Amino acid sequence: MAKPSKLYSVLFNKCPRCGVGDFFITKSAYNLKNFDKMNKRCPHCGENLVPEPGFYQGALYMSYSFYVAFMVIYFLIFVNFFEPYLDYFLMSIIPVLIILTPYFYRLARRSWLALFIKPQDQEAVKH
Ligand SMILES: [Zn+2]
Repeated sequence: MAKPSKLYSVLFNKCPRCGVGDFFITKSAYNLKNFDKMNKRCPHCGENLVPEPGFYQGALYMSYSFYVAFMVIYFLIFVNFFEPYLDYFLMSIIPVLIILTPYFYRLARRSWLALFIKPQDQEAVKH
């Protein structure tokens, strides 16, 4: 297999280096007990997934940008296609954002780490 794509590993909970090992221990963002538990090292290639203490504070900026992008898109969909129901936009935006929080939390961590790690050919990282 060729180099894993960053987009793939960010979207599918994979290590940004090999694209094979899992990043968070659970597949689902809605496993309320364990959704935030990460593997400290990639179970496949051994990549350090927690490079330094406080590394993931930077992920705040990623999740902030996801929230903003999501709200803009959600709003534009309402304005363009459901204009008579704009009230529902206001009523639904807070619960929808709360429901998306665990998902964005995980997405933000994966994309933040992916900024710093180059994907590598699987054969090259196997040991
Ligand atoms: Zn890996």
